[in-house]
Amino acid sequence: MAQISDRVNRLAASATFAMLQKSNELSAQGVDVVNMSVGEPDFNTPDYVKKAAVDAVEQNYSKYSPVPGYMWLRKACSDKLKRENNLDYAPAEILVSTGAKQSLCNVIMAIINPGDEVLLPSPCWVSYPEMVKLAGGVPVAIRAGIDQDFKVTAEQVEAAITPKTKAIMICSPSNPTGSVYSREELESIAKVLNKYPDVFIVSDEIYEHINFIGGHQSMAQFVDKDRIAVINGVSKAYAMTGWRIGFMAGPEWLVKACNKLQGQYTSGTCSVAQKAAQVAFDGPQDDVEKMRQVFQKRRDLIVSLAKEVPGFEVNNPQGAFYLFPKCDSYFGKRYGDKVINSAEDLAMYLLEVGHVATVGGTAFGSPECIRFSYATSEDKIKEAFRRVKEALANLK
Ligand code: PMP
Ligand code: GLU
Repeated sequence: MAQISDRVNRLAASATFAMLQKSNELSAQGVDVVNMSVGEPDFNTPDYVKKAAVDAVEQNYSKYSPVPGYMWLRKACSDKLKRENNLDYAPAEILVSTGAKQSLCNVIMAIINPGDEVLLPSPCWVSYPEMVKLAGGVPVAIRAGIDQDFKVTAEQVEAAITPKTKAIMICSPSNPTGSVYSREELESIAKVLNKYPDVFIVSDEIYEHINFIGGHQSMAQFVDKDRIAVINGVSKAYAMTGWRIGFMAGPEWLVKACNKLQGQYTSGTCSVAQKAAQVAFDGPQDDVEKMRQVFQKRRDLIVSLAKEVPGFEVNNPQGAFYLFPKCDSYFGKRYGDKVINSAEDLAMYLLEVGHVATVGGTAFGSPECIRFSYATSEDKIKEAFRRVKEALANLK
């Protein structure tokens, strides 16, 4: 019988999707679960975007799309980068993919050889180390705890660089912490990286628009264009997670390499979704701002509620829609014959007993934390924290 490859055996399953599935299973059994596990906006895709997709179906956008994306969408991405980020990327320097996840994975697969080290400011999103491992590379975490707002310093980055360092993956606003690097912080990291021109930079800016400090700063402003890939997409800003459109902006040699990979692996992404994404980028941006404001109110709410939970330590996230409380004061506590030994045990306890779905921090590189996604209504956030407090009070 066929055996699973070592490559796949080495890979961890996505912890975010695993918790989503568990939460959905409990809901299907009739349990009223507040789902704060997976990170996706709870809003509907804006109407004008949906209409563009309906029109595309009627206009027979039903053939294979060009592997790197339709030229008009690559142009819309290029215009977006100029308009919103003041970055100059020609359409030929853009590659559209099946979500930002594929854009990231393409880049890692295109530049990482077995044994290459990839620096991961950590906590980081669950998929980064797994993508690096898939390419045969070695993920190297640079740890930043809650005492430094989960952000690494330029000195830490420099100390982690070795002759084997091939790339660094930076995410701001960050999943899972919501931390946002300031212009000065990015500049000081760029200053270090500029001393090491062989280290390629992957800048994941998918949460760009969910930012509470008044404006996004792209790492691409501070380094040579030939050594950075900017990753973005429509999933978070336009509430389009299911449409699966992301893009990479980078040097043409990298676009060509990713194009080759994508041409053998997935082909061009969904033609209808590309039409919708074009309209999302080119159309009115009012809905994006409205959603951002709602997220900011929810951020204020969840931070105040989490601060009231005994034993939780929280930062004040400046972007994205995650809260990542430090909760290790509960480790070693019991509920009946169950012992909470880890963040995963705590997340499972909160799900099974409190009926609140979260994600344990280990898969993000922080075994002392759990992640709450607050992309849900204020009422649900309030109810979740009522349950969390009650469940935690029962731990002895
Ligand atoms: N980067 C980060 C940090 C994310 O949290 C996600 C989650 N969706 C992605 C990339 C992937 O986004 P997409 O849905 O566009 O693949
Ligand atoms: N990025 C989201 C999360 O972290 C969606 C799930 C995923 O792609 O991992 O929950």
